[in-house]
Amino acid sequence: MADKLIRATAADSGIRAVGVITTRLTEEARQKHKLSYVATAALGRAMSSGLLLASNMKKEGSRVNLRIKGSGPLGGLLIDAGLDGTVRGYVENPEVELPPNPQGKLDVGKAIGQEGYLYVVKDVGYGYPYSSTVELVSGEVGDDVANYLVTSEQTPSALLVGVFVGAEGVTASGGILLQVLPKAARDESLISLLESRVSKLSGFTPLLRKGKTLNEIMAELLGDLGLSILPESQIVRFDCRCSFNRVLGALKMLGEAELQDMIEKDEGAEATCQFCGEIYQASKDELAQLIADLKTESV
Ligand code: ZN
Repeated sequence: MADKLIRATAADSGIRAVGVITTRLTEEARQKHKLSYVATAALGRAMSSGLLLASNMKKEGSRVNLRIKGSGPLGGLLIDAGLDGTVRGYVENPEVELPPNPQGKLDVGKAIGQEGYLYVVKDVGYGYPYSSTVELVSGEVGDDVANYLVTSEQTPSALLVGVFVGAEGVTASGGILLQVLPKAARDESLISLLESRVSKLSGFTPLLRKGKTLNEIMAELLGDLGLSILPESQIVRFDCRCSFNRVLGALKMLGEAELQDMIEKDEGAEATCQFCGEIYQASKDELAQLIADLKTESV
């Protein structure tokens, strides 16, 4: 099934639901970054969470960044997701592998660590990003993002994200976000109903692996609550916005002395994009041109 995102409402628009499948883009990230199994699960969960969070932003160009910095061996991760359905991200120590947890699942909580912070930066498209920070609750990503939504955005939310990865790569990845909207936010019974339904699901990826579609999973959760799924689904994909020009811009900021040094010692410069692993090479001539640009600009 292609990677996609669907939006729905239920309970007289008192509930907003979004579901996303990220199997292919998580596999793409795994290959680009040579991720271990547990690192794949951590990054895939974070990318699904980011796409789900970005999906309710309004203005074109809106993006959300999730940075998790924990006490575990994975070090941390960063993802950048957009309302346009693009996402990219990386983990600090992609090679870290851990034995499964007592439930037989990939031990994302231990890899990230239970102590640390989740930083959320939202750029709502007006050029003034706002950020907020919450402490990690489990390092399992889904719990941590749900906790952010409840404590920082004061939106009662249930979030379920999962990744299934094995010797054949990523075979299922995605998630679902259910939110009680302000008009229904005082309805405690609705909130607890959503929580109990999500906790009864045996996880997101087992359903995908059984061949269930996003629409079927939504129907299972909210079918009896007046579920209405928006007809058009959105394509989601791994996409990095890096380019050679951006790399040149970054090199230019190093200044004339540093650039001159690179020309003399290294006969050029090499830069790797952290988000996608793309390697960019700038020749001596290109660096010399940057110095010339700097000189004209300073006149
Ligand atoms: Zn890149």
